[in-house]
Amino acid sequence: MVDLSAQYHKIKPAIDEAIQEVIDQTAFINGPAVGHFAQELATYLGANHVIPCANGTDALQIALMALDLQPGDEVITPSFTYIATTEVIALLGLTPVFVEVDPQTYCIDPAAIAAAITPRTKAIVPVHLYGQAANMNAIMELAAKHGLFVIEDNAQAIGSDYHLADGRKVKTGTIGHIGCTSFFPSKNLGCYGDGGALYTQDAELAKKIKMIANHGQEQKYVHDVVGCNSRLDTIQAAVLRIKLRQLDNYIDARRGVAAAYDAAFAQLPGVEIPFRASDSRHVFHQYTLKLTSLSRAALQAHLQAAGIPSMIYYPIPAHRQNMFSKFNLGHLHLPLTEALCEQVISLPIHTEMDEQQLDYIIQHVQSFFK
Ligand SMILES: *Cc1c(COP(=O)(O)O)cnc(C)c1O
Repeated sequence: MVDLSAQYHKIKPAIDEAIQEVIDQTAFINGPAVGHFAQELATYLGANHVIPCANGTDALQIALMALDLQPGDEVITPSFTYIATTEVIALLGLTPVFVEVDPQTYCIDPAAIAAAITPRTKAIVPVHLYGQAANMNAIMELAAKHGLFVIEDNAQAIGSDYHLADGRKVKTGTIGHIGCTSFFPSKNLGCYGDGGALYTQDAELAKKIKMIANHGQEQKYVHDVVGCNSRLDTIQAAVLRIKLRQLDNYIDARRGVAAAYDAAFAQLPGVEIPFRASDSRHVFHQYTLKLTSLSRAALQAHLQAAGIPSMIYYPIPAHRQNMFSKFNLGHLHLPLTEALCEQVISLPIHTEMDEQQLDYIIQHVQSFFK
């Protein structure tokens, strides 16, 4: 699905030098690279504050912890997402309220959010799925109207531009109260292990987030709130400083692959190519087809026989996962989400795909439909 080895070899001298420097300094925890990276990412995103942490799941958890919610408070989230988005809600004793996605973007549907708001609703967690931004203009309007927090799960869309209703162009993740990112190796900005970050424009929230990620302390050995221990390793920060300089090139490469796929697959019968919303720039963390009539399993087998990997993101909707059984969701039906889990298939997409690989994949996808 990705080729992280070829990507590394293009930047090997810089990466090797940066890692060696951390080792030479034995600055493994909170070394200088961590602060430098946080500043550079803040500049790139146009965020006032970036707080690095250990992984994207921690980022989501810490973001929710920073909102001072009470047990049983409701958090509205899509069911069609990676489990981490929804798991942290339940982990903190909050109630996940799963709602439907938009039929074009596969991101949370603002009309479904509006219908799910109750007096206990405290926050919305939209997910910019596959690199396509959710409808943030509508979501922020709803949030303002009802006094709700918005935490953007930006793990799949870092670097995506979004056009606000007021005409400004901003980065996804900087629109809600807090944005969360993962630097898992295969993400659009990935490190060489685990990593994550939160960003916010709000100084008060930034202060709280920093404390929570650091055992609830501001001053060493003085602990004001219950927190956790969630840090970005210096080696990972050193790697990310170098890769951040490539992020726009990486996005362009992904968009190039997506454009070639679009052209090749747009006319195939029973296939929907990814929608590109007019208010944002799709960064194609995944290139995902929807099969409306033909068998997905047969296509997967056809590709596998040719040595082409494919993945299903995601085969089971969150509201059907046993981990949420205590919320008694048996009666909850999200027809679009449930159908997508049966119909989507993601093809290889990455920064190092050459013409030959691309042609090979296109040819084998097309031959399935002949
Ligand atoms: C990857 C991902 C996460 C979690 O990130 P980790 O770093 O693996 O903890 C959360 N949400 C979404 C949508 C993701 O794709």
